[in-house]
Amino acid sequence: MELRICHLYPDLLNLYGDRGNIIALSRRCEARGIAVAVEECSVGEAVRADSADIFFIGGGQDFEQEVLLADLATGKSEAIRTAIEDERIFLAICGGYQLLGQYYRTWDGIQMDFVGALDLHTVGSQERMIGNYMFETSALSGGSTVVGFENHSGKTYLGEGVEPMGRVLAGYGNNGEDGTEGARYRGVFGTYSHGSLLPKNPELADFILASALKRKYGEDFSGELAPLDDSFERAAHSYMAARLSV
Ligand code: GLN
Repeated sequence: MELRICHLYPDLLNLYGDRGNIIALSRRCEARGIAVAVEECSVGEAVRADSADIFFIGGGQDFEQEVLLADLATGKSEAIRTAIEDERIFLAICGGYQLLGQYYRTWDGIQMDFVGALDLHTVGSQERMIGNYMFETSALSGGSTVVGFENHSGKTYLGEGVEPMGRVLAGYGNNGEDGTEGARYRGVFGTYSHGSLLPKNPELADFILASALKRKYGEDFSGELAPLDDSFERAAHSYMAARLSV
């Protein structure tokens, strides 16, 4: 079996080591004999909707998001929408997550129209939502507890047909108001959780891998991934979960 991963805007959208998610996905595949090919795609490079099984977009500040608008308009937005409607897997973090939605209005009134693949929008606030946080994913995202780090001023609101990835247990999540965190739509996993999301949440990492393998191989994939020795990952996870539970 083989998975192709496309890292969108690796040079512009990569805060707090978001790239670590690609490393985690790759290592967890390789340890199971699943081949991985990672391709990077940035400004000026065309992306094909069928070029990858998993697309990854990291986070970035308002400035980087604005810089990307012209490039998205050259056909990338359309390719992303096609890939999403084709049930391809997307993992999108913070600024990259906001980018898949309809628009972002910054706190000082700049309106950026985004990809529009998901019915959600983001509105900037003066208060930044920063810190370690924790959420419980719904069954659609594997039903596990996720520990993460968030840093955003945008408040995201979900429209009809988009499910949250989970419910906030500690911290802010989508907007600090309605208790939701992230978004799930078709194969898209959108979340505010930066950096070491997948390294420290191996259950979510495997749920995403299994989703990609199921989509690609159907009945030929048993649905089960061989267990790995996750003792370090679980130790990091439990330590943060305990800290955030008090
Ligand atoms: N521009 C966004 C915000 O501040 C995203 C920030 C990020 O990706 N960390 O809301």
